Amino acid sequence: MVRFEQLNKWFGREFHVLRDIDLDIARGERLVVCGPSGSGKSTLIRCINALEPFQEGRLSVNGTALAVEGREDLRAVQQVRRSVGMVFQQFNLFPHLSVLDNLTLAPRHVGRVARAEAEAHALAQLERVHIAEQAHKFPQQLSGGQQQRVAIARALCLSPQILLFDEPTSALDPEMVHEVLDVMVELAGQGITMVCVTHEMEFARSVADRVVFMDQGQIIEEGEPEAFFSNPRSERAGQFLDKLL
Ligand code: ATP
Ligand code: MG
Repeated sequence: MVRFEQLNKWFGREFHVLRDIDLDIARGERLVVCGPSGSGKSTLIRCINALEPFQEGRLSVNGTALAVEGREDLRAVQQVRRSVGMVFQQFNLFPHLSVLDNLTLAPRHVGRVARAEAEAHALAQLERVHIAEQAHKFPQQLSGGQQQRVAIARALCLSPQILLFDEPTSALDPEMVHEVLDVMVELAGQGITMVCVTHEMEFARSVADRVVFMDQGQIIEEGEPEAFFSNPRSERAGQFLDKLL
């Protein structure tokens, strides 16, 4: 579904942010990416959505190859973006639009879906995240956990093949973390390919097929969650997990 081969990326000339990334993500796989702050997790998953150019190596997403910086093919980029949904730490909802309008904006204006059809589909996605009754509210009238579930529904509205999550619970008050994780666990059971940057170990343990640990732009270690969390092989992963507990 996603294949990185010897991918390298720099910010500017000096800063080597992703180093020799080799990573295969299977269709339907649920992958958790963890690692210290600044290790390149967000940059890695932003590559999957063609939000970050890279300078060396190969990356293909859902059968489409993304080319290195300077040789990008706009059609490939658009194709990839159509198949990938993304949920951010900050929910990034439009404050001046109702929940329903937040969800139908892209389908109606980018996907050119008729209003009635877009709204019916949006309501179905809101039901999947258990928040359909809030469809006519504005983002500020909702709790953080509710806003994040709206953001997940918005990503689902474009019927993505792959869902990317970048620390979706780390901006939430602790009491709201679970309602978002519960929705993610449900989605994980529905067969969609998921790549989640998260430090929620319980979530990783219950749904991830595999955990990837990054440090300083490299994938240092990967494995099944149970093995990784209870018995990391690398010293750096061990140190990271010690701090997490
Ligand atoms: P965190 O856990 O704090 O979210 P991360 O693992 O997601 O960290 P990234 O956001 O991918 O890390 O950043 C990796 C490194 O690249 C960091 O040192 C960051 O400061 C740097 N970086 C990120 N974006 C840019 C940018 N647009 N220009 C220059 N440097 C950047
Ligand atoms: Mg990050």
